[in-house]
Amino acid sequence: MLGLSDLKPRHRLTSTEVECPVRTCSEWVPRQRGRFRLDDKFRCPEHGIFISPETWAYGSDEENLLWTNQEDQELLKAIKSVKRYNRFKHDRCEDAATWNFFRCFERARKLHKLAEWSGIQPDGQEELVYWGYSANEKQRWSALTKARSRSEPDLIFLNSGYCVIVEAKLGAPNRIEQLHRFWNLGQQIAQDRAVRFVLLSLICEGKTDVTGEQFLVKFMNRSNPQFVRATWEGMFDAASGTISSSEYERLVRYVKDKTLGYDRKTWSLVPAFRRPSN
Ligand SMILES: [Zn+2]
Repeated sequence: MLGLSDLKPRHRLTSTEVECPVRTCSEWVPRQRGRFRLDDKFRCPEHGIFISPETWAYGSDEENLLWTNQEDQELLKAIKSVKRYNRFKHDRCEDAATWNFFRCFERARKLHKLAEWSGIQPDGQEELVYWGYSANEKQRWSALTKARSRSEPDLIFLNSGYCVIVEAKLGAPNRIEQLHRFWNLGQQIAQDRAVRFVLLSLICEGKTDVTGEQFLVKFMNRSNPQFVRATWEGMFDAASGTISSSEYERLVRYVKDKTLGYDRKTWSLVPAFRRPSN
């Protein structure tokens, strides 16, 4: 996994070529344009990453993930059997961040802490549905199938009283159509399962969230369902004192080091998160 300490603060590129973003590397590859492609001609022979002017993708999913022991791998494999697109390799995509943050609470058996963080009442029966995959049911979550929804929320967080749909974003803003789609889906699930529904928009601290603002204004006065905005940094704070120290150290390093790639105007490296103070 490449972070601030491994990467060139400024990306060097021409109209036809880009340099590998790794600090110590002087390899150049052709400049790709438009939709990001995992094509060998854009790959650094030294580091195995696929390069574009703004971002990169790793040679394997695992290089972008913090938790990859055997149990993690088995769950990932099951998730991928349901998940529509596999984008774990892509550095800028929120998929790897979603796994890295939420999975650390799950493997530490501290999901009740996530309940507190998202503002719902914990009851010890918390479970996660990653990209539609229910580990309890060992299949696409039946409530999604029943709702005949083709939507694939990044994460659904459940307990006996609540269903929280999380729409996670790293750099890009949340799209209003997407929030509306999840709003309707969540209401349907809530009715069906007789639980309260919360739609949670998860973004980086300090990023402007116009879509969330608009959505909030529109649905401000409804207490059920509820629309909540939260940050990755807030979730990180909730992990403090919650997970084991070695795993917490890994998360700290990730939060300190993670970037959003290079800014399109200045080609300088953009840190993803507010740096933790400790
Ligand atoms: Zn390289």
